Amino acid sequence: MAQKEIAPGARVQLAVVEEVLNLCRANSLWPMTFGLACCAIEMMAAGASRFDLDRFGAGVFRPSPRQSDLMIVAGTISKKMAPTIVTLWEQMPAPKWCIAMGNCAISGGPFEYDGQYAIVPGAELIVPVDVYVPGCPPRPEGLIQGFLALEDLITKGEKRNVLRRFKRKIVKGR
Ligand code: SF4
Repeated sequence: MAQKEIAPGARVQLAVVEEVLNLCRANSLWPMTFGLACCAIEMMAAGASRFDLDRFGAGVFRPSPRQSDLMIVAGTISKKMAPTIVTLWEQMPAPKWCIAMGNCAISGGPFEYDGQYAIVPGAELIVPVDVYVPGCPPRPEGLIQGFLALEDLITKGEKRNVLRRFKRKIVKGR
């Protein structure tokens, strides 16, 4: 069968559309309302008025995995809870991303020791993790840094993320 000819410039145009889509995706993340342990309290603080995740287009926490494109694994993953986390991840539509927040989600944290039998030592063992935010717990600023890293990952760099490059003017005396 003869191969279909590609119109000149078609690839370039699609690449531009993909870049624009990625820019939109990066700046309108919808995290799932979902927490596992103490780190979730810091995640809630990051979404509240003092830190205000809406400044980064990520303040719309959704109550359903079917409406979310970001899973923040915030807290200790017990082996009992792990299958539920996998189910939630599978219910999220693609494209989707995952942030492992805190030492427990990264590696089991203080609960990982010889002989322990109840904890999964790291979210990456059950779901694909894109960004790791260390700390026990990480402060809301740490999670915001994680959001910025994820936005850069989706747009393939800070320079391509025009909204990320926007810098606020600091007004003297405030
Ligand atoms: S990393 Fe620390 S603060 Fe976060 S869930 Fe584990 S023990 Fe709690």
